Formats: sequence, C-alpha cells, structure tokens
Amino acid sequence: MLEVAGLSVTYGGAVQALRDVSLRVPERGVLTVLGSNGAGKSTLLRAVSGTLDRHGGQRDAGTITVDGTAIHRRDAASIVRAGVVQVPEGRRVFGHLTVDDNLRAGAAGARSRAAAARARSRVEELFPILVTRSRQRAALLSGGEQQMLAIGRALMSDPRLLLLDEPSLGLAPLMIQRVGEIVAEIHRHGVCVVLVEQNATMALALADTAVVLDVGQVSLAGSAAELAASEQVRQLYLGHG
Ligand code: ATP
Repeated sequence: MLEVAGLSVTYGGAVQALRDVSLRVPERGVLTVLGSNGAGKSTLLRAVSGTLDRHGGQRDAGTITVDGTAIHRRDAASIVRAGVVQVPEGRRVFGHLTVDDNLRAGAAGARSRAAAARARSRVEELFPILVTRSRQRAALLSGGEQQMLAIGRALMSDPRLLLLDEPSLGLAPLMIQRVGEIVAEIHRHGVCVVLVEQNATMALALADTAVVLDVGQVSLAGSAAELAASEQVRQLYLGHG
C-alpha cells in the first residue's frame, strides 16, 4: 500500500535526518517504527505526509508511493486527499475551538459529504467521550482526551493510511492501553497504520511488521514477532537484558 524507497532527508541543507530509507506497508498492514530520540522517526512521517517543508526539511532523494501512485511531490492537502493523514506528536488540537469544531476541521480533507458523514459516525462510535464533550473547548480536555480528539480529527478525512507519532507519549498507563485498543480498532476497520512509539511492547504487539531506525537509517526490519524476539530490540527498547 505504502512504499518508501531510497528516502533521504535533510534539514536546512545540513542535518541529515534520513539516509536511504526503504520500507513498505502492505494493504491492511500495521508498521511500527522504533528508534531512539533523533533517529528520524518523526521525519519519516513528515516526509510521507508532505509536511517536511513546515519544519525546514527537504527530500533529497527517494520516492514515496501509495498504491503505486507517487505522492512525494504533492503538497500536504493533496496527500490527505490521497487518503494519508498524520496525527502529529504532542496531540496538537485547536485548544480555543470546541471539540465539534476540531472534528469539523478534520472533515475538510474528506473526499465527499457522504464520506465525511460516515467518518463522523465512526469517530463518535470509537470515541463516545468526544460526543459528550462536543461543545467544550478542546483545551479543557485531559491529555488522553486530547489525544483521542487528535486521532478522531485525523479519522474525519476517512483515511486509508494513518500515521501516528507517539500517540501514548505522556499518557497515564490506563490511557496508553486505551490508545492501543483504539489503534487495533482502527486497523480492524481496514485502515493501514504507521505507528511511531516509544512504548515498544505495545507497538510491536499491534504491528505486523516493524523497522528500527538508527541515526537516520534502517538498522533492522522484519515481522513484529521477529523484532520483539531480537536481542537488539529487547536490550534497547523492551527493557530486558
Ligand atoms: P524524537 O523521538 O526525539 O522525536 P525522532 O526519531 O522522531 O526523534 P526526528 O525528530 O525525525 O527524530 O529527528 C531526526 C534528526 O533530524 C535529528 O537529528 C533532529 O535533531 C533533526 N531534526 C528534526 N527536526 C528538525 C528541524 N525542524 N530542524 C532541524 N533539524 C531537525
């Protein structure tokens, strides 16, 4: 479904954040991306979602295709229309707007009114709390609820591929578990997911395949089960010796 080939990215023409990265996500697949701070995980998601330029980054080489269609020269809005949506790190919601307005803003990328209505009812099913809080300003939600809203807003454009950047960061354990359940539920609805997570145990349990990025390069790739069993991953990310 998603194919990244030979991707290299720099920031400000100097900092090389990704070097010759290749990976693929099959139809209905979940790919987990592991790696330490600064490894290039967010950069990878930004490259796919067409938002590198907002961060001063640029693609120097490589291609990104979705179902065989090249998207690496398209702008972010057109990539959303192609069905690829990123939930950025830090659950950025419009704090001064209501929950409802945040969701409506997400629907701007929907392919049709019918698709937007379908997406809306699915989001309400997944996140009943957002219905209860619909008239509240987003800034008043808890961290976990804001994360639900950020994911809900992304789902409003009825994506086929969802890019999640550390959705469990800073959340309480119960909420982390809930985020995991939600990702699994989204996947059950047939949406592909690329999941960047510090919480490797959860992320590998949710994924079919996984890659480890190390200073901008893919250092390990395989099935999620293979990576969970790998000595390198166990030592670095799973807290086992
Ligand atoms: P983290 O887990 O800390 O978010 P990451 O794996 O997502 O890390 P990136 O944020 O993609 O890593 O960063 C990869 C490299 O690019 C790092 O060296 C980082 O300092 C650099 N970098 C990231 N964003 C920018 C930016 N906007 N301008 C300049 N350099 C950047």
